[in-house]
Order: sequence, then C-alpha cells, then structure tokens
Amino acid sequence: MARRKIIAGNWKMNMTPSEAKELVATLKPLVNNPDVDVVYGVPAVDITTVVEAVKGTNVQVAAENMYFEEKGAYTGEIAPAMLVDAGVKYVILGHSERRGYFGETSEDVNKKILKCFEHGLTPIMCCGESLEQREQGITMDWIRMQVKIGFQGVTADQAKTAVIAYEPIWAIGTGKTATADQAEEVCKGIRECIAEMYDTDTAEAIRIQYGGSMKAANCKELLAKPDIDGGLIGGASLKPEFAEIVNYNK
Ligand code: PEP
Repeated sequence: MARRKIIAGNWKMNMTPSEAKELVATLKPLVNNPDVDVVYGVPAVDITTVVEAVKGTNVQVAAENMYFEEKGAYTGEIAPAMLVDAGVKYVILGHSERRGYFGETSEDVNKKILKCFEHGLTPIMCCGESLEQREQGITMDWIRMQVKIGFQGVTADQAKTAVIAYEPIWAIGTGKTATADQAEEVCKGIRECIAEMYDTDTAEAIRIQYGGSMKAANCKELLAKPDIDGGLIGGASLKPEFAEIVNYNK
C-alpha cells in the first residue's frame, strides 16, 4: 500500500498567538492538497489558537515537545492529556535542538514516544547526525542507535503509525540540504532498521520524512525518492512557500 506523504511545519520558537492566527489565515487558501497529510508544529502557547484557526481544513496540529509524566510537580512541562484535550494529534520529539540545547537523550525520547501511544498521539521522532559524525563515517550507526533506543517497547502496530524525521544536523537552518541521494540513503537505512526490529510490513507502513533546509526549490526531488514520505520544514514553514511544498505534486 502506498504511504501517504506527510508534510509538517516546525515553527520552532516563532510566532506569537496573534502572528500564528495571521499565518494560518495566509496559508489557508494555499495549503490545499488532498493527497498529503499536513501538520503545523507550533509552540505550546499557540496550540489553542492554531487548533481553532485550522478548523474545517485537513490540517492537524503538532506540539513541539511533551513531558512523559501524566501530571504533577513538573513546573513548566506539558502533559500528554493536556495536548489531547487541546486538539493536538502529533508531537515532534527529539528534535536536534532539544537534544543539543536542552540535553534530551534518546532514553527521554523513548519515554515520550511510549506516552504518546498511550494517549493516542502520533510521535514524529527526529534523528540525525552531526557533520563530524558524517565525516567519521558513522552516520548510519548513530541513527540506528537513535531509532533503536527511541522505539524500545513500541509495538509493531504502534510503530506502523509513527513518523520518523531524518534531519541531518548540518542541514538544519543552514541552507545546506542533503542531496536527494544522501537523504534517500539514510531514509532507506532507517526503513531497513525498522524491518530488522519488527518486520517488513511495519517497515513498509512507517512514514519517514526528510528535514533540513527543505524548500520549494528542492522538495520535488527529495519527495520523489521512494523512501522519503514527506518533510519536516523549519524556516520555510513560516512563509507562503510552505504551501508550495505541500502542493509539490501539483
Ligand atoms: C527543522 O528544524 O526541523 C528544520 C528542518 O529546519 P529548516 O527547514 O529551517 O532547516
């Protein structure tokens, strides 16, 4: 069965609620592709506004992080049930900025992924190598480790619904994109890793995005690759250009 493409924006720490409302309104008439699942990953404070603003469209909302406990004395954190109640469907987890600046480990990411499934949320788990790791020739070893730890305890049925975003750190926000062949090589490697952990059905079902300076100019080539099922888009998700990526096949 063909996998549906999934194009997700990662707004990062951009957009006040009023700006978010305006951006969604700008994108509304442009983002309109029935062949693609579209997701806006937005700051926590924007979630309610954006959920309201996308009503009546096929756009879903993602949180950019979530804590792995149910509730309680975790000042500043956000519980899975809060996201569900607010109308969130996806959670971006383990972004390299969270791993790099906030010390998130693959073990933390694993706990969060398991919690997502308990609450019916779909995780978008980010993984990716640094430039140094690529130059050392350990890209696939590193990513296989991130995937294997991230998916500890996840069942095959759960994994089938998950999303993995391959984001080489050296390509994020730098304007340097992995070539379509480089991106395909790693996305294919991730699918092979999932096949080893589970089975070919699971590997064929899971969706794997590429992220890292994806834009209107390079998205067609990347999205044409057999193992690239979508994109996680940072900078370009804050502009009307995002709609061009969503409409990549038009
Ligand atoms: C990201 O942060 O997930 C990302 C891919 O950013 P950019 O598109 O700006 O490189």
